[in-house]
Amino acid sequence: MAQPLARDVAEEIAKLHGVCIRPVALRRLDMTTGKSEVVDVPCGSPLESKCPPCAKRNRQLRMAQCREGWHLDEEPIITPDEPTDGQRWLVEFRADMQAKRDEEAKAGENTSDLDAVLTGLDIEINEAGMRGNVLGRMGSKRVRSTKRRQDAPDLPKRKMASTTLGRTFEAADGRTYRPSLFVTLTLPSYGKVLNGAPIDPDTYDYVRAARDALHFSKLVDRFVQNLRRVAGYDVQYFATVEPQKRLAPHLHMAVRGTLPRAEMKQIAAATYHQVWWPQADEARFEGDRLPIWNDGYADPDTGEVLPTWDEALDQLGDKPMHVIRFGDQVDVKGVLAGSPDADQCIRYLSKYLTKSLGETLDGQAQREHAARFVDALRYEPCSPTCPNWLRYGVQPKNAKPGMVPGCCRSKAHKPEHLGYAGRRVLVSRKWSNKTLAEHKQDRRTWVLEALGQADEPTDPHRYVWQPVRPGDPDVAPIGVRLLRSIAERQRWRAHLRRLEELSANPQAA
Ligand SMILES: [Zn+2]
Ligand SMILES: [Zn+2]
Repeated sequence: MAQPLARDVAEEIAKLHGVCIRPVALRRLDMTTGKSEVVDVPCGSPLESKCPPCAKRNRQLRMAQCREGWHLDEEPIITPDEPTDGQRWLVEFRADMQAKRDEEAKAGENTSDLDAVLTGLDIEINEAGMRGNVLGRMGSKRVRSTKRRQDAPDLPKRKMASTTLGRTFEAADGRTYRPSLFVTLTLPSYGKVLNGAPIDPDTYDYVRAARDALHFSKLVDRFVQNLRRVAGYDVQYFATVEPQKRLAPHLHMAVRGTLPRAEMKQIAAATYHQVWWPQADEARFEGDRLPIWNDGYADPDTGEVLPTWDEALDQLGDKPMHVIRFGDQVDVKGVLAGSPDADQCIRYLSKYLTKSLGETLDGQAQREHAARFVDALRYEPCSPTCPNWLRYGVQPKNAKPGMVPGCCRSKAHKPEHLGYAGRRVLVSRKWSNKTLAEHKQDRRTWVLEALGQADEPTDPHRYVWQPVRPGDPDVAPIGVRLLRSIAERQRWRAHLRRLEELSANPQAA
């Protein structure tokens, strides 16, 4: 009876001290000393509902990243260093582990152990000074028929200058100003709303709202392409996707450099994205009458094999399944480097980062609205591999036995995501010269310097990470692990404080 209570208390204290409350235990074998120990790695969740301390830290890092890139006055250097042998080894090792994990998954086995190893390796890879995620860009793109190419919008086009910096302006007093933009883009109306819920749920266009949310990230990509074309330089941005009260995603974007407000609005108005997918309006199979698996999905009555994903794409007509555009509400604001205005925008940009899209519900009407939205998403195909395609008579891409329409497990259908399963923070490659891991490294370096320790990169051959088996006697109960981390954090803080005092008043030594 007392145990869960103790755990709750430990969690509360951990939150107060900014210590991760859902640490991942990994066994670390030190190849130099032969020592093997269990190490807690922070979960790193960006969501407050999962781990408030990690979410808070994550938000602070994002704010630092946004601030650092917004008003750069020098071109960022982006030539990556040649990977070292150690870095190559890490990536190769990760590939092996990934293959093992995929094998287990294929055999229907529990992959949580190997997933934990992969998490540990990703951390190692970033700490070894490599950017991004190994799985970053994979898979091949299908060559689309030219007939269905996205039409170029009707917009002015400037000659491209090879710079990522915006224009500067000289004031009468001789000072140079470097203005930037803060832009908010919103989706169109699906029906009148009051306090975040439709006035008339029956006429509110839930299907359109669902499809717009599912394809929102593509629309944002198009907007950036068009923006760069019109601006005539390699425009950089830091953007966040956040839920509006009516539960549609919208975009806040810090843009480096400036354009006339009217031109920004013109770009937003001309931007659209066409979705070239098979139709998903008329259900062909539903209820108990569902396609059956026979080395491919087939009509349960006639036995006729349904078209595969590629065949369905080849048979598309000349009308896209969906076209998504922004709404009329485009907000463009000029911001000056280092002004209180800029700080306010950065806080605004990161305001909801620690909340999931469906987490801001308020009141009965809005909860019912959210439930109807989730209903509309249930049979909407979220991707080419979505089992929902069976409902519309098409075999999903990579079809396999056991697929049931309405039971897709992808994030997009979940109430926390409300159709938008993409990244919440979108940062262009030449924004601040640094990835989030590098911003994290900045902080670590700072602390180590304050402690008078050298921040040497870890020798990648030194540690071998292993998953911790359930019931491993070296893993203490979570409450004990939290208290340990808290004690460690307190020791560090005290040490740092002492160093600060010493530097302020050397005689005190
Ligand atoms: Zn955490
Ligand atoms: Zn799906």
